[in-house]
Amino acid sequence: MAKSKSQGQETVSGKKTIKCPYCQKNTSVVPAEDYQPIFADCKACGKRYILQRTREGIEALKIESASLLENPDLREIELGQGDEE
Ligand SMILES: [Zn+2]
Repeated sequence: MAKSKSQGQETVSGKKTIKCPYCQKNTSVVPAEDYQPIFADCKACGKRYILQRTREGIEALKIESASLLENPDLREIELGQGDEE
C-alpha cells in the first residue's frame, strides 16, 4: 500500500478559537451546529465551560455564571432526555 503523503489534514469546518473564560487563553473548540449550548474543556487549564453559539460567533461562559437554560445539564433534565448510549 502506498503511503499517503498528506496526512493530518485539518478540517477547519466549524473549528473556532475562543478565549477560555477561566484562564483567558486561546483554545480551539468545535461548537455545536445548532444553537444549543454544549460543554467544552479548556486545553490550557482543563476547566469545563459552556460554549454557546451567538449571532456574533461563539461565546464561552463559566458554568457558574450561566443561566439555567444555558446549562446543558439542567436543560437535559428539563427536557426529560435520558442518555441513549
Ligand atoms: Zn482555561
